[in-house]
Amino acid sequence: KARGKGQYQAFVEEMDSEFRYRQRLKNDLAIAISEDQLKLVYQPLVDPATRRVVGCEALARWTHPELGPIAPDVFIGLAEETGQISAITRWVLQTATAECVFWPQPISVAVNVSARDLRGEDLTRYVSEALKASGLAPGRLEIEVTETALIEDREGAAAKLAALADKGIGIALDDFGTGYSSLSYLRGMAFSKLKIDRSFIADITTSDRSLKLMANVARLGQDLDLVLVAEGVETEDQLEAIARHTAIDQVQGFLFGTPLPAPETRELIARMNRRDARSRTAKRRRP
Ligand code: C2E
Ligand code: MG
Ligand code: MG
Ligand code: MG
Repeated sequence: KARGKGQYQAFVEEMDSEFRYRQRLKNDLAIAISEDQLKLVYQPLVDPATRRVVGCEALARWTHPELGPIAPDVFIGLAEETGQISAITRWVLQTATAECVFWPQPISVAVNVSARDLRGEDLTRYVSEALKASGLAPGRLEIEVTETALIEDREGAAAKLAALADKGIGIALDDFGTGYSSLSYLRGMAFSKLKIDRSFIADITTSDRSLKLMANVARLGQDLDLVLVAEGVETEDQLEAIARHTAIDQVQGFLFGTPLPAPETRELIARMNRRDARSRTAKRRRP
């Protein structure tokens, strides 16, 4: 009994310190942008047949001056709670478009937005603002949303995404297959791209079912004129299986390295898209 009580006490203290930790992060996040603590890193999206980089996803990084790196899954969630996400999204849009405009022409840049961004009127304004300031063509910008971000105000979100799509901006459904009613979102929303969640790729080389699932989702996407992306590709074998057995258009993952700052990303693109780098990998036939 005494031990149980001790455990409970430890639990309460842990909850309390967890609460205080989150509270501190929320406070400190308020000055993170103005103090230059946020940075963007980029991860390439690669055509599995040619191994050329066709686009990049911008991912936010926060290095706290005392606590060190804070994972985006943590600070983005906190920023959503406080409403600071709006300022972060604005900063990400500005920074990503300004940095990507110097990359070779057709390379696009994808920015993640959250549920809260889809609620207000700011997102549309921030996007126009960023495109205007950077001079980036709208066709080179992509907005990524997750299924869970669409649950709250489905109609409002659909209208906002349609307005962005009308400007020529790409709309990607992120982490596809992990949220709710995946298929119904494909009916009423202006998506141009589906990003299949990395949990489906993880066992693609050992599970025939996963491979078949992937091949058939890719076929469905093809029929719906969607660009299909496999997230979380970590090994050559996974890439090989995808290129051989599915009509997946783009792959993304640690196989091509961890996400990098803009200058290194630019070098990576130059290296991967060099003519001789391309001819080294024979073009594989699609099924
Ligand atoms: P996401 O948009 O699905 O981004 C992909 C995440 O998977 C990234 O994690 C990336 O580093 C990781 N990843 C990429 N390739 C691999 C792989 O081969 N294996 C594994 N295990 N992981 C891989 P990250 O950067 O930690 O971001 C996590 C999530 O945080 C993102 O998921 C996105 O939902 C959110 N996020 C990141 N940056 C932003 C942002 O600027 N705004 C918003 N609203 N959300 C963001
Ligand atoms: Mg994403
Ligand atoms: Mg994702
Ligand atoms: Mg995710």
